[in-house]
Amino acid sequence: MSVKTSTELLRSSVREFSEKTISPVAKKIDEENTVPDDILSQVAEMGYFALRVPEEYGGPNLTTLESVVVVEELSRVSGAIGIISTVSGTMVAYPLIHYASNELKEEYLSRLGKGKIGAFALSEPCCGSDAANIITKAESDGDEYIINGRKTWITNSTYADFFLVAARTGRPEDRHRGVSIFVIDRSNCIEISKLEMMGYRGSGTSELLFKDCRVPKENLIGEINNGFKIVMDGINEGRVITASMGLGVMQAAFEESLKYAKMRESMGRPIIEHEMVQSMIAEMKIKLEASRLLIYKAAEKIDNKEYDYPMWSSMAKYATASWGVDLVRLAMQVEGGYGYSKESNIERYYRDIKMIEIGDGTNEVQKMVVIKSLLGKIRPAKV
Ligand SMILES: Cc1cc2nc3c(=O)[nH]c(=O)nc-3n(C[C@H](O)[C@H](O)[C@H](O)COP(=O)(O)OP(=O)(O)OC[C@H]3O[C@@H](n4cnc5c(N)ncnc54)[C@H](O)[C@@H]3O)c2cc1C
Repeated sequence: MSVKTSTELLRSSVREFSEKTISPVAKKIDEENTVPDDILSQVAEMGYFALRVPEEYGGPNLTTLESVVVVEELSRVSGAIGIISTVSGTMVAYPLIHYASNELKEEYLSRLGKGKIGAFALSEPCCGSDAANIITKAESDGDEYIINGRKTWITNSTYADFFLVAARTGRPEDRHRGVSIFVIDRSNCIEISKLEMMGYRGSGTSELLFKDCRVPKENLIGEINNGFKIVMDGINEGRVITASMGLGVMQAAFEESLKYAKMRESMGRPIIEHEMVQSMIAEMKIKLEASRLLIYKAAEKIDNKEYDYPMWSSMAKYATASWGVDLVRLAMQVEGGYGYSKESNIERYYRDIKMIEIGDGTNEVQKMVVIKSLLGKIRPAKV
């Protein structure tokens, strides 16, 4: 069976599951800002929260391209499920797979393989784009580290069984050279305050307060003060998956507005027959397929370990975010007043898609990656 055929088979099975199981509750997830437990269990059962986890730990061991397809299809029906899958199955899985000790792999990758959810806590109230400046501290105390500090905008927090936490182990002036990554179980020392976000509602995005959290020294991932490199390595790969979250939203908005344009009549004919509406639909289709091509190309570069994949991953994320915002705005225009109402799904897509220009590195940060790559200042860690 060719790779293409197997990827398309994967897509059909995720689509069938998503439409049957997630689609009927997608609106409720957004309204109530939470995912019902039975839905989480069914998604976990399919392995969609453990995308990259190797089979020996119970995961599906998907390639980047396969992960893109799964996240795209989940996001086509629910942004929340798409982002939970992305964070747990790729952003959390990546550092564990590539940098954790065998004992940590055994413990935490197996948890993901069993359907548990992980969260990735890097951003702080002080610093998102400037993550090298984080101030959450991990202080050595005998066989343990004691963690104190505050994280914000952390996806999956309300559902998470454990957290990967970036903390300062060096001096503030050491910036990225003084950051380490720890894996921390959910416990009473972490105060979780759920945030009311504009979009991606139901993703469990929260502020976290770490109050004297004691972590065994063995829970350090990789080497001390080398955490920033691990984070960047994962993000370089992961950005293309974040882009595929946007692609799923774009696909859904396109399908819905095209259907509406064929059905809605104005001035004696379906609006799809008016040239200006046709122009909007054509522009949407171009932006949709151009984003898809960039994402799949970037994913293939990652899977083939080509040296310039960080740049392609960032280009795919930037283009999808920008074109995605344009596409959903046009989709709303096609639906007129209905598109602006809560009855239509487009207003949810409109709120969701904007996040792709911010999360996992803003559009401005993606352009910085492109320039730094062109100047030879960024290299993937594992080529
Ligand atoms: C829904 C959602 C989910 C998230 N989930 C997570 C998560 O799970 N884990 C996590 O760790 N973080 C998460 N984040 C945080 C996200 O990664 C940050 O919001 C993002 O990196 C931007 O950081 P900031 O919000 O601090 O903005 P800032 O860094 O303060 O940026 C503000 C503006 O200034 C611009 N800017 C900043 N520095 C520069 C510069 N040097 N040159 C030019 N322009 C610049 C930015 O591009 C932006 O336009 C999430 C955010 C959202 C919205």
